[in-house]
Amino acid sequence: MSHRSQRPTGSTPANFDATELSKEFENLMRNKRFNDFQQQSSHSKSRTSSPAPSQSTTLSSDSSQTTTTTQSRINRRLPIMPRRPHDSASVKFCNLLHVLSVTPTKYENPGLLDEALTVIPLDRLYAEADDEHQIHKARYASMGKKPQWGYQDFVIRSLLKWFKKSFFTWVNNPQCSRCLMPTIAHGMVPPTPDETARGATRVEGYKCSGCGSLERFPRYSDVWQLLQTRCGRGGEWANCFTMLCRALGSRVRWVWNSEDYVWTEVYSEHQRRWVHVDACEGVWDQPRLYTEGWNRKLAYCIAFSIDGATDVTRRYVRSSSKYGAPRTRVAEDVLLWAIYEIRRMRREKLSEQDRRRLRKEDEREERELRMFTTSALAAEITSLFPGSRRSARGDEQKTPLTQDEAAAQWIHGRPQNESEQGPDSQRDFDRR
Ligand SMILES: [Zn+2]
Repeated sequence: MSHRSQRPTGSTPANFDATELSKEFENLMRNKRFNDFQQQSSHSKSRTSSPAPSQSTTLSSDSSQTTTTTQSRINRRLPIMPRRPHDSASVKFCNLLHVLSVTPTKYENPGLLDEALTVIPLDRLYAEADDEHQIHKARYASMGKKPQWGYQDFVIRSLLKWFKKSFFTWVNNPQCSRCLMPTIAHGMVPPTPDETARGATRVEGYKCSGCGSLERFPRYSDVWQLLQTRCGRGGEWANCFTMLCRALGSRVRWVWNSEDYVWTEVYSEHQRRWVHVDACEGVWDQPRLYTEGWNRKLAYCIAFSIDGATDVTRRYVRSSSKYGAPRTRVAEDVLLWAIYEIRRMRREKLSEQDRRRLRKEDEREERELRMFTTSALAAEITSLFPGSRRSARGDEQKTPLTQDEAAAQWIHGRPQNESEQGPDSQRDFDRR
């Protein structure tokens, strides 16, 4: 397998934890088996004579009996296989993921994206991106290196700056619309028919400290509305910003976190990887912000896109012992089932070629995510040695370009792209 040959060939710490290797092997097996399983599944579906129910391999089959038969057959061959949820808590969690997974599908609306393009100062953003790209290229050329980011990456960075500075407003307590005095939270209020029609299912009430009248703050999840209201908290910010990135032609992900936070991932064609972008913070490519920056513990970070779902927790939680919150909402094999199920749904209308491309991308990302864990572990081990040059708290702010570079970076204790930070990399992490 190509995996072996892509492992770092440099020197590794002598007491490198072998459990990582077995985990890696498990993951590898799991992916391979699931791909086999998917192919088998689509093969059986395409047959004109349907298989007998007991032989059905359709993951989404409503008959739990069929699935159990399939599962037990698969389980015998596998370390971990996606398992259908049975208890009500797991079913509830899987349903939640399905509901969340719809968010980025709403962006795939040409009318919406056209409308979005009318609010973005395109000329200004493109010109700025072009300038910065040229400077970036020149700087790298002077060092004899290839540029790290592509033009489209700079377009999104410009959008990010404009969005935070000029377009969207953060709202904690809305001002009183009558006397402009501050307001005090007054609980949830039922939505009016108009608010419901415009997609606000939750409306917060605020009492004015001056005139005592009630101010309403509808929480819109509908991106059309957000283009008009242009305000909100994390949810509105991430939703609207992600859609605008889509409007500018990037592939996007809307990332949900179980600790009630959301952000964006944009695919960098130049780097061939997903890049963390946080519109609220104006932050580009700083996936460690929440854990190592804000000292928060996270359990689940799930990325949703038009092509499915991915558990990207390892990108944001490098050291699960330090920053991982307990993952108790659902068994890992059930989570896997939910994710594969969402992928299957989103990809069923795609050509076999596109599906293959996405599977390759999934595998590539899986290697990237696994490398984060391995690297963090290697760094922790290195830091145990007396006189080690740096602590386990990574000074690596950037996600590595390739596994080999990542390995070299961690093993030699020197971030390769130290000077290459996002536009707002020095911002204060304690603002929240
Ligand atoms: Zn008032």
